[in-house]
Amino acid sequence: RSSAPDNHLETKAMTTLFVSDLHLASARPAQLALFQQFVARVAQRRARALYILGDLVDAWLGDDDDGSPPNREIIAALASLRAAGVELHVGHGNRDFLYGPRFVAATGARLLSDYAVIDLYGTTTLLTHGDLLCTRDVKYQRFRRVVRHPLTRHAFLATPLAWRQRIAQRTRSGTVASMRRKDDAIMDVEESSVAAIMARYQARLLIHGHTHRPAIHDYADGRRRIVLGDWYERDGVLVCDDAGQRALRVSDYLHLPAVQA
Ligand code: MN
Repeated sequence: RSSAPDNHLETKAMTTLFVSDLHLASARPAQLALFQQFVARVAQRRARALYILGDLVDAWLGDDDDGSPPNREIIAALASLRAAGVELHVGHGNRDFLYGPRFVAATGARLLSDYAVIDLYGTTTLLTHGDLLCTRDVKYQRFRRVVRHPLTRHAFLATPLAWRQRIAQRTRSGTVASMRRKDDAIMDVEESSVAAIMARYQARLLIHGHTHRPAIHDYADGRRRIVLGDWYERDGVLVCDDAGQRALRVSDYLHLPAVQA
C-alpha cells in the first residue's frame, strides 16, 4: 500500500465485521437468505474483513459434505468475498470444527485457531468461539477434548458421509436434551477463565459467541468482552472501525448509510 494522502481516508471508511452462531441449516431458509444478503452487502461495501467466530452452520461433517444444502449456497456466498477483496476468517464452533483444506480452497477463508489475537484498529483483541471459556461444564470440556483429538477426527472423517450424517442427527437430539438438564450458570463463560486467558494474550478486548447471550461487558480495569448474538432469535453483527465497536441487527447493517458502513 502506498502512503498517498487520500489513503488514510480510504482506510478509515473500512470496517471489520464479526458474526457467530448463525447455525445455518436447510430447515431455516430465512436465515440463509439473510446471510446471502449480508455477505453481498459486505462485498459491495468492500469491508476490510469478515470474521465468522464459529457455528456458521449447524453441522459440518467434513469437507466432502460441501454438496448438501445449504453448504453449497454458503460456500458460493463466501467465495464472492474473495473477488471483492474482503478478507475472510473462519473459526471453528462446537458444531462445525471440521473445516479443512477443501473448504479453504473453495471459499478463500483463513481458518482461525481456538484462540486468535488480532490488532483491531490499535486494540489487542482476542477472538474465540467461546465454548472453551465455559469451564464450569466439565463434562462438555472432556467431550470436546475427545472429539477434537486428531485421531478421533481422522477416524471420523474416514467413515462414509452417510454414516456421519446419521451420527450427527443422533448427537443433535442428545445435545438438546442435555442442555435442557443443565442449569443456566454452567452454560455461560466463567469470569475467572476469561480474565486468565485475556491476561495470557495481553488482550484488552475479547470477542466471542457460543453462549447466545449477546452483551458488551466492560470491566473495571478497562478490559471489554463482547458476546456476539446468535441468528436464532436476534441476528446480530459487530461492526468495528477506528471509532470503536457497534453491535447491530443485520437488517440495520444492510441499511446503514455508506459512510458508516
Ligand atoms: Mn457454539
